[in-house]
Amino acid sequence: MISALNCPFCHIDDQQIIFQDELVMSFRDGFPISRGHSLIIPKRHIPSFFELTEQEHKSLLYALRIIKNDLDKELTPNGYNIGINDGLAAGQTVMHLHIHMIPRYTGDCTDPRGGVRWIFPEKAAYWLDNST
Ligand code: AMP
Ligand code: ZN
Repeated sequence: MISALNCPFCHIDDQQIIFQDELVMSFRDGFPISRGHSLIIPKRHIPSFFELTEQEHKSLLYALRIIKNDLDKELTPNGYNIGINDGLAAGQTVMHLHIHMIPRYTGDCTDPRGGVRWIFPEKAAYWLDNST
């Protein structure tokens, strides 16, 4: 288990921060999967979304909106994937809660249909399933 001591998100440089308030902050992902890929985190080192206090929850969702508006202005993406890998089984690699804010651009992949369903590629394209 990563503690706050060796957690990368507990040691983000001030220059990397694109938005913050008392409880939450946002910065660009260090290994972005799209232009503008950003992370929004509580300042408190907690692993799970479900451990947020009510005020942290509010601040996090407010920050999400701020980051969306900034990305819209700066990069004019055509859509967003917004997601949380909550828990090791769900693929979380940094055990400090973070919301992925992933701008999407028309034509950035061959067929974007299904979005986050592609965590299970064989089940993603439900529109091709004739069994139901
Ligand atoms: P997850 O797999 O959902 O826990 O995502 C962890 C995210 O953190 C990945 O998208 C990484 O690219 C990103 N990441 C890891 N280390 C750093 C770091 N030092 N600074 C910024 N982003 C990071
Ligand atoms: Zn941390």
